[in-house]
Amino acid sequence: MTEERWRITVDAGLCIGSAVCVGTVPSHFALKDSHSVPVHEVVEPNEDVLAAAESCPMEAIRVLRVGTDEVLAPEL
Ligand code: SF4
Repeated sequence: MTEERWRITVDAGLCIGSAVCVGTVPSHFALKDSHSVPVHEVVEPNEDVLAAAESCPMEAIRVLRVGTDEVLAPEL
């Protein structure tokens, strides 16, 4: 069985730099030029990352399952 990995993307065109995600999971998001970027594009499953994607006011964050590209968060 392969270990599950998630991919984090941030749409720079949507992100307003509110830093909610950075405050929620500082280990996984950082502000760069007033926009959020994932610290690592591919990560181990982490509930806090899902929470960050759900709480982004612009829905700029996507969390996808590596391999299937299933969208894990935000819920549509
Ligand atoms: S919470 Fe959303 S809008 Fe705010 S910095 Fe993070 S990605 Fe950008």
